[in-house]
Amino acid sequence: MRMMDTARSDKLFERAREVIPGGVNSPVRAFASVGRHPLFVERAEGARVWDVDGNAFIDYIGSWGPSILGHASPVALEGIGEQALKGTTYGLPTELEIQMAEQIVEAFPGMDMVRMVNSGTEATMSAIRLARGFTGREMVVKFEGCYHGHADQLLVKSGSGALTLGIPTSAGVPGESTRNTLVGSYNDLQGLEELFRNNGGRIAAVIMEPVPGNMGVVAPREGFLMGVRSLCDRHGSLLIFDEVISGFRLAYGGAQTVYGIRPDITCLGKIIGGGLPVGAYGGRREIMSRVAPAGDVYQAGTLSGNPLAMRMGLQVLRHLAKHPEFYRELEEKARFLEEGFGANLRRCGVEAAVNRVGTMVCQFFAKGPVETYRQVMESDTKRYAAYFNRMLEQGILMPPSQFEALFLSGAHEERMLEMTVSAHGKAMETLAE
Ligand code: PLP
Repeated sequence: MRMMDTARSDKLFERAREVIPGGVNSPVRAFASVGRHPLFVERAEGARVWDVDGNAFIDYIGSWGPSILGHASPVALEGIGEQALKGTTYGLPTELEIQMAEQIVEAFPGMDMVRMVNSGTEATMSAIRLARGFTGREMVVKFEGCYHGHADQLLVKSGSGALTLGIPTSAGVPGESTRNTLVGSYNDLQGLEELFRNNGGRIAAVIMEPVPGNMGVVAPREGFLMGVRSLCDRHGSLLIFDEVISGFRLAYGGAQTVYGIRPDITCLGKIIGGGLPVGAYGGRREIMSRVAPAGDVYQAGTLSGNPLAMRMGLQVLRHLAKHPEFYRELEEKARFLEEGFGANLRRCGVEAAVNRVGTMVCQFFAKGPVETYRQVMESDTKRYAAYFNRMLEQGILMPPSQFEALFLSGAHEERMLEMTVSAHGKAMETLAE
């Protein structure tokens, strides 16, 4: 394993920390949980990223999801210069926005109408306001370990047991904001049933990542998603699927297509912007008709439906729609990693579990099976940090946290995956020592 020169990155980090809190514009980028300074990027192309010191890496961060066709994808970028020359924002509607809405609505069974916003956070925040407006109720259920962005009401952890109200996980979030947020356990239908029993008639919506990708990757147990759907129906609550990661990644039509569950509202982000800042929320016509100016639930945005983002996103979505084999191939890549990692773990006798759901994959340094948040939290994060650094030294950039999915793209070629499995094998050998 080579010693990497990161002098320029280190210097930039020092400078950044003077003027940007923690030196980064989103906390996970600081690499704190893997015990090193962040790498500053010079450029990226396909599945590769180069740092400012000239080190090249095979990238499994993929901007945390958007780059499904790889970085600087010619498909995404086609005509973007011309589009920019027509003006980059108008604050007036364009045909591109209709085309984008039509493309999304056609892909997602749970959506008749969709509203574009600028991030996943905005999408979930707006979806919850809509659910509350539509039902006239105030409470919302979220699951431990699912991340829905940083709106106050969703920055909660559970108190003792599933029956307590949410406690803010961040300074600056008043208890008042999370007073109406209940926290359930993912894959625990009984717990959810209890929440409904104790708060019957007051729950506006259950919001969930149908396949969580923010506590690492966890698979829904047989019948869990259907069970949540039924409980929502029985109690007159809306089901919100946060498909900001799984949308257009697990399958073209997201997890709802894979599992055949129709949510009332769906949140999207990441892939639909093709690499530019976008989010969206959509659902049944009856519900979406309540959004202003059609209805009485207010929501707006200066840059919403931005023409550059619409064009880039649309080009990616149209490409994916035209190439259904893309998802089969992406899943093959995920399976290759799953099997290769599994074989290395067995050979080296390292205790870890590889979770894969379709195209989404990750490795937990835990005994396994890993099906609940509690099991996720038993992972050995120190070992993950050592693994991350062993991989980095071999030119493989894994997510800098145990609790993240690997983001594969169409640009990850077979030989890159082979290099990854081989590097993983060497990393496991050193971890076994
Ligand atoms: N929902 C999910 C499932 C996410 O993974 C994320 C971000 O990672 C968000 C919402 C928030 O999206 P954004 O970071 O664009 O605000």
